[in-house]
Amino acid sequence: MSTKQQTKNTPSHNPENQNEPPFLDEFQEEGDLGVYCDLFSAKSQIMGQDGGIVTALLLKGLKEGLFDAAIVVQRKNGYSAEVISAETPEQILASKGSIYHRVGTTKKLLELVAQNKKRLAVVCTPCEGATIRKIQQTLCKDVELTIIGLFCFGAFNPQRLKEAIKTQLGVDIDRATKTQVKQGKFIVSVEEKEYSCKIEDLIKASDRVCGGCGEFVSMLADVSVGSAGSKDGYSTVIVRSKKGAKLAANLVDVQKDIVDKPIIVKLVKLKKEQAKKNYTQ
Ligand SMILES: Cc1cc2nc3c(=O)[nH]c(=O)nc-3n(C[C@H](O)[C@H](O)[C@H](O)COP(=O)(O)OP(=O)(O)OC[C@H]3O[C@@H](n4cnc5c(N)ncnc54)[C@H](O)[C@@H]3O)c2cc1C
Ligand code: SF4
Repeated sequence: MSTKQQTKNTPSHNPENQNEPPFLDEFQEEGDLGVYCDLFSAKSQIMGQDGGIVTALLLKGLKEGLFDAAIVVQRKNGYSAEVISAETPEQILASKGSIYHRVGTTKKLLELVAQNKKRLAVVCTPCEGATIRKIQQTLCKDVELTIIGLFCFGAFNPQRLKEAIKTQLGVDIDRATKTQVKQGKFIVSVEEKEYSCKIEDLIKASDRVCGGCGEFVSMLADVSVGSAGSKDGYSTVIVRSKKGAKLAANLVDVQKDIVDKPIIVKLVKLKKEQAKKNYTQ
């Protein structure tokens, strides 16, 4: 079920986000979640990280010609991430799932722009999304970008995460078929068995940059997607712009559900407070 908001249509936006107005115009505002016009939970037929909605959106956008390529992250060599430009449905499908590392999406975007690519989608964390919007305003004014932003409470340093998982759980993360961050736990699946520990036990493996980051829901994306607020196997979807609305409209073979919005708002506030605390310490 869609829980479309009935807040007044206003061009005013979050004053902290100077990049919002040019991209997220004419849509409704809801303070804590940023600008948006629709909020729902959904599950596709794709076995993705959660509801496979990011992959479903990318496949739809490519099929409908909304972009020519998508910058996504593919798992390579054990548990390492590589940013690639996916131009076929097969490449997009091969990139489903999350790798909890901070990756250089922006670098790949600049590379593609230098090759004169003009119509691109990007899947990215909030930090990368903010940088990409800045680039779009300066270096890439003529590039048509669709940003699918992920929710993100934090990423890990690859080497330190590998060591910490070995110490805490006794498994090699390179052998994981899936990793999940859920309800305060880091879960590693190896050969149909699940191993988990508290995220706080992995604190030393956190990417240090993330400590000062206060953005959880990718406020500058066209569509934001995460697991918080949805039940297992579903993705929470926040549609923020006209471009995002076009992409998210009429998704086929998708089951919808209600979103637990207070949980998302709680995490938004918690991440902001945490960043402020770390910054002032
Ligand atoms: C570092 C990180 C931290 C996250 N933390 C949270 C959290 O705290 N709470 C929450 O609700 N959700 C979090 N997420 C989002 C969540 O893991 C899922 O990506 C989201 O729910 C979408 O699921 P899906 O099944 O719709 O995606 P899928 O259809 O499986 O597609 C996932 C997409 O994400 C891309 N991707 C994978 N890894 C990365 C990466 N490192 N950087 C950029 N793109 C990537 C893939 O290329 C793919 O296109 C996080 C994601 C990342 C990458
Ligand atoms: S916590 Fe912030 S800095 Fe770290 S990966 Fe997520 S969005 Fe980027």
